Amino acid sequence: MMPLEALTDLGHEEVVFHQDPANGYRAIIALHSTVLGPATGGTRLWTYASTSDALVDALRLSRSMTYKNAIAGLALGGGKAVILAPSEPFDREQLFLAHGRAVESLGGRFITAEDVGTTPADFVVAALATEWVAGFDGRGGDPSPWTARGVMAGLLAATEHRWGSPALKGRVVALQGCGNVGTALARQLADAGATLIVTDRDSARAESLADEVGATVVAPEVIYDVEADIFSPCALGSILDDSTIARLRVSVIAGAANNQLAEDRHAEALAARDIVYAPDFVINAGGVISGSVALLDETQDDMVRRVDGIYDTTSEVLEDAARERITTLHAAERRAEMRLANARKDNR
Ligand code: NAD
Repeated sequence: MMPLEALTDLGHEEVVFHQDPANGYRAIIALHSTVLGPATGGTRLWTYASTSDALVDALRLSRSMTYKNAIAGLALGGGKAVILAPSEPFDREQLFLAHGRAVESLGGRFITAEDVGTTPADFVVAALATEWVAGFDGRGGDPSPWTARGVMAGLLAATEHRWGSPALKGRVVALQGCGNVGTALARQLADAGATLIVTDRDSARAESLADEVGATVVAPEVIYDVEADIFSPCALGSILDDSTIARLRVSVIAGAANNQLAEDRHAEALAARDIVYAPDFVINAGGVISGSVALLDETQDDMVRRVDGIYDTTSEVLEDAARERITTLHAAERRAEMRLANARKDNR
């Protein structure tokens, strides 16, 4: 898909390009929707093969954020920022100050926190230039533990949907990515009695997590071939494509990574193989929900209830899909679209 066509097809409100050459800063900020509230989503710092790839990533990720926030019941819209990693050595503080200024220039229509390649410390710096950032101590805190808690809730709901019980004792989970979320999730899975097979591009990370939770380590490419009950993608997106889906030997997919499907049509390929796919944006909302305490008028109790509510939301989405013989992706998007349509009516 060409980026400009994607822009129209995916229905973005606004996409802006900011640069500050003195600091090596170049970023795309995509505001997909402000219907429910300020466009909210993480900032990714990544080396892209081309600026078109970066744009497509920002467009797809920001649309997912609209759906994620809508389905989580938050008064937040969807957006995403992508900073193109400078090719020359750069001063990280200056880069995130420049990002803070870019975010500030949007006047509160965009709120952001960390994502792949960025850390809570980066947003402490960005906060010197804008109030529209979160995800660090005093402003929502580190979202990863909450993301892991929500993914666990969604994974248990998918387990119950598939096997009639959420019990994980005796189940095998293949986990891709032993980073912030993957590690926290692995600990919960092991506590619940699951047997784990783990992988990471960084083999030391995989080995150290495996030692801790008693898992088996496999090479990154092998994770698609192992026999397991559940596959949990917690690394990067676009990993479910024609080739990997054909190789999988699992019954359920439930993980944290954003945009796990290479293309939407891969939801049909998974359904055709009778694999229950818990849509990523339904079950990985714990992090953004945790930020809602700082951004919205919500208490810690409201927040925890909402994260744990991912269990029921996931169950409902999977049940809708089974009853109506539609994909789980379609069922989840429809739910989000319904909330957006109602909000548009109310706004009018
Ligand atoms: P992270 O960077 O801490 O961890 C990702 C891990 O995946 C790293 O250890 C990395 O080495 C590994 N990895 C990368 N490519 C790999 C590959 N091809 N094979 C095996 N391992 C690979 O990131 P995180 O914060 O744990 O997030 C994980 C995923 O969840 C990301 O896709 C992120 O967008 C998504 N997500 C995170 C949050 C959050 O709160 N952190 C919220 C929502 C979604």
